[in-house]
Amino acid sequence: MRIVLVGPPGAGKGTQAVRLAETLHIPHISTGDLFRANISQQTELGKLAKSYMDAGNLVPDEVTIAMAKDRMEQPDAENGFLLDGFPRNVSQAEALDELLETEGIKLDAVLDLEVPEDEVVKRIAGRRICRKDSSHVFHVTYSPPKKEGVCDVCGGELYQRDDDSEDTVRKRLEVYHTQTEPIIDYYKAQGLVVTISSLGPVDEITRRALEALKRDEDTEK
Ligand code: ADP
Ligand code: AMP
Repeated sequence: MRIVLVGPPGAGKGTQAVRLAETLHIPHISTGDLFRANISQQTELGKLAKSYMDAGNLVPDEVTIAMAKDRMEQPDAENGFLLDGFPRNVSQAEALDELLETEGIKLDAVLDLEVPEDEVVKRIAGRRICRKDSSHVFHVTYSPPKKEGVCDVCGGELYQRDDDSEDTVRKRLEVYHTQTEPIIDYYKAQGLVVTISSLGPVDEITRRALEALKRDEDTEK
């Protein structure tokens, strides 16, 4: 399956992506995680990306698309992938369509996670991620690690993302509404959008997502 996850920052995309990718046996490709890995390795791309990320802006399309393309061309993504945080504007969605077209493949679904803004703000305020692998995500009250400050998965140190500060979050939400939300209509025109509520226990949302994807697949048959 080839799936795109969309939703505002803090919707639970990363949390659900890890679970869905495992169940569906496809790699989880998060452009945010790829940028953070570049930042921790102090690459040129990381240095460039950090200046945009810290301001709550999108990293320029050219470098983002090249990085996503490179990752999607890895052997493990040959039979499917779950994109988390890409595309994030209509030009990226068009670039993705072009890329898929040249490969003769298509997206199966765009899973849209809906959450009210006040909940998103609470989720982001308490989010803690792992220094070793930013796809290991916790929340100080909703999903606390067994030992404070330590990642349950790999023992790495947990920290608060620089771009999870109140001011940057406000900017990121604005960027989401103005630049990212339009991709939902773009994909609706292709009949690909499946919307679910991302409110409730994490397990329940995973179940909801798998059911919605399955229903979508069945109606296409
Ligand atoms: P996104 O990738 O969309 O930015 P995350 O998956 O990082 O969102 O989730 C944001 C925060 O909300 C994290 O701290 C995560 O632990 C928490 N979270 C995720 N899903 C839920 C949920 N269903 N209920 C409560 N908190 C959640
Ligand atoms: P995320 O981890 O998905 O919340 O992304 C964190 C930040 O990385 C975003 O606020 C952007 O600055 C940057 N980023 C991630 N994905 C993209 C993308 N597809 N296009 C541009 N910037 C991105």
